[in-house]
Amino acid sequence: MRAAQFTGGGRIEIVEAPEPQPGPGEVRVRVAACALCGSDLRPWRRGWPVISGHEIVGEIDDVGHPRHGERVIVYIPVFCGRCQECAAGRTHLCRESRELVGWQRPGGYAERLAVPERCLLSVPDDVPDRLAPLLLDTIGTTAHGIRLARRVVEGGSALVLGAGPIGLGAIIVLARIGFAPIHVVDPASYRAAFAASLAAFVTSPDQPAEGRFHLVVEPTGKGAAPQSALEAVGPEGAILQLGESDAWAITETRSIRLKDFFLVRSFYFPIGSYPANLELLRADRAKYERLVDATADLDGLSDLFQSFAQGKNLKPLMLPSDAR
Ligand SMILES: [Zn+2]
Ligand SMILES: [Zn+2]
Repeated sequence: MRAAQFTGGGRIEIVEAPEPQPGPGEVRVRVAACALCGSDLRPWRRGWPVISGHEIVGEIDDVGHPRHGERVIVYIPVFCGRCQECAAGRTHLCRESRELVGWQRPGGYAERLAVPERCLLSVPDDVPDRLAPLLLDTIGTTAHGIRLARRVVEGGSALVLGAGPIGLGAIIVLARIGFAPIHVVDPASYRAAFAASLAAFVTSPDQPAEGRFHLVVEPTGKGAAPQSALEAVGPEGAILQLGESDAWAITETRSIRLKDFFLVRSFYFPIGSYPANLELLRADRAKYERLVDATADLDGLSDLFQSFAQGKNLKPLMLPSDAR
């Protein structure tokens, strides 16, 4: 089968890879689409030993299997289902998990892949392939983080520091559950304008936002964003830090000292939150559709990554050309 290999320096080679052989408890999935993610840029720049791609929708392609033909998305942590965290429903925190799909084991920038059956989530007919991958990082991760934050901050004003896919996903979810007003900061005018079209107020990065917000969402972990989050959160408010982060360089200031606040950190989401996340997709379907702003087949993946890395797309999709 054909697959994309990240060979380093932002190069992608389309190679003839061995057909995936499902092990015990695994099934073969034919990839219908795989969404590009900001976290892919690191392996894309460095090169990566396995096939990347972790926001996958496809169809079970295992003749004779009872679920053959079923449309599924792929939950990326290969969780054990037995440890203390799994037993408590926190499958994304599994203590035995050693592999993430698209990181330590082959992912979705390919025609097919093998996936442990427990990592497959059934996609209902009303959710098309181009929207289904958004149920993972864009909706799953943001909604779970926001649910955690709501244990300490019910609602009120929110600031989102960055209007990439996770930031925009956070704006849509926050608006849906009643946070208002929602402000956003993003240096890229294209992304800021998109956030404004979702009814967020665009705040200049230089505009001081000291201690005003009930909730500050920090989805980038980059540069000055963590410091901005600490300055912007209000008394007894919460900072929600989502996804990957660089090292935090923080300077303690008087304004940070003179307030009490909560820090909420989350990376992925428990598999059991899927039904609730589906409802979020259905409730704001038109907004999520607009996030998917470019597509390419495997041969076009290299150009698509170049454009994505330059911040020209929000949530592009790779759709492999018809499986051979
Ligand atoms: Zn991702
Ligand atoms: Zn476990």
